[in-house]
Amino acid sequence: MTAYERSRILFKFADLIDEHNDELAALESWDNGKPFEQSAKEEVPLLSRTIRYYAGWADKIHGLIVPGDGAHHVQVLREPIGVVGQVIPWNFPLVMFAWKVGPALACGNTVVLKPAEQTPLTALYAAALLHEAGLPDGVLNVVSGFGPTAGSALAGHMEVDKIAFTGSTGAGKIIQELAAKSNLKSVTLELGGKSPFIVMDDANVDQAVELAHSALFHNQGQCCCAGSRTFVHERVYDEFVEKAKARALKRVVGDPFKQGVEQGPQIDEEQFSKILEYITSGIDSGATLVAGGARAGNKGFYIQPTVFSDVKDEMTIAQEEIFGPVQTILKFKNLNEVIQRANASPYGLAAGVFTNNLNTANTLMRALRVGTVWINCYNLLDAAIPFGGYKMSGIGREKGMDSLNSYLQVKAVITPLENHAWL
Ligand code: ADP
Repeated sequence: MTAYERSRILFKFADLIDEHNDELAALESWDNGKPFEQSAKEEVPLLSRTIRYYAGWADKIHGLIVPGDGAHHVQVLREPIGVVGQVIPWNFPLVMFAWKVGPALACGNTVVLKPAEQTPLTALYAAALLHEAGLPDGVLNVVSGFGPTAGSALAGHMEVDKIAFTGSTGAGKIIQELAAKSNLKSVTLELGGKSPFIVMDDANVDQAVELAHSALFHNQGQCCCAGSRTFVHERVYDEFVEKAKARALKRVVGDPFKQGVEQGPQIDEEQFSKILEYITSGIDSGATLVAGGARAGNKGFYIQPTVFSDVKDEMTIAQEEIFGPVQTILKFKNLNEVIQRANASPYGLAAGVFTNNLNTANTLMRALRVGTVWINCYNLLDAAIPFGGYKMSGIGREKGMDSLNSYLQVKAVITPLENHAWL
């Protein structure tokens, strides 16, 4: 298929997504439990936006002619990798679908995609829309199933040329091992995080509280890039904790299909129980529980928006990914100290910085070993912005131009010239 045909199919797909916005959003909220308003107003629009971004790239990917050192003509071709396996998680099923399928198809690959076992519906629906948009049979194959069986089968398959994975760091290691043991397929991984959100003393505390709140609690706290270590300068710490508590207590938890609800249930019983265990661990290790701390209601996997203050770096709740509505607030004294503490994590996915001081912002931006730094904002995930992790948060980048490289092979072609006159 020509690049232009691929581009047209992706643009048509994006239009069909928009036409089916509310059906996709309803399926997403049924599967995942996230507020319908968020699915309908943020996630489905982000799906079509990202697909359009890559539709635009499809016919702009091309090779180069480069200078050789002798009498030869050198071309560099950019080719699709071939069959791509993609394994995606349950926290943002449609957004993950876009980040994976968009660049893979724009570059001319075929795909076998495995959605998470908790949330298979929207990938199947989106695949049907892609088919309606004109994608030939067999180009995108959605295989629903469990991780250790269906997911691992893809990672270890001899005829899969690349595997792209988003999920936990533990599963990411298994994927990389399977890739190495089979055909050394190329691997991109987008894994966990324990991202710092740093509030300096020059900050407007009300704004910082609101931003830190959404950086952590968005999507029931189930974001790989959640701002899950809230570092607050000692001069504004007490005020911040009081206000963070008040904001958490105001958070509207309930039926995801009810208007105005900010927080639905956690994805499943396993995650629900794990989060409650982390809350117990926080209390046992001596952190101060200032809000929440228990199940919300007595039906469904709802958890009260929970805030801990007086959190110390060595506590489990400050080190491990909780993946739930639990904010941990840590106190710091100065910039150098917070840089060291923020970087003292095996993860390096993202960071938030809240300050009005340009020098502080620039210093933090350079010093933090993470793939994304949001300054005075958080969770902006536009299609053109590359996303991925340093350290144990992953390998490679998704979105933006950077994602294209991981779906392309590079072929050098060298042919002789009669003599140097034709260089
Ligand atoms: P989470 O802890 O967020 O559920 P997982 O890493 O377990 O993250 O799941 C993310 C995706 O990875 C899902 O599609 C899941 O089925 C898949 N997965 C989990 N374990 C494995 C595995 N051993 N091999 C391949 N895929 C896996």
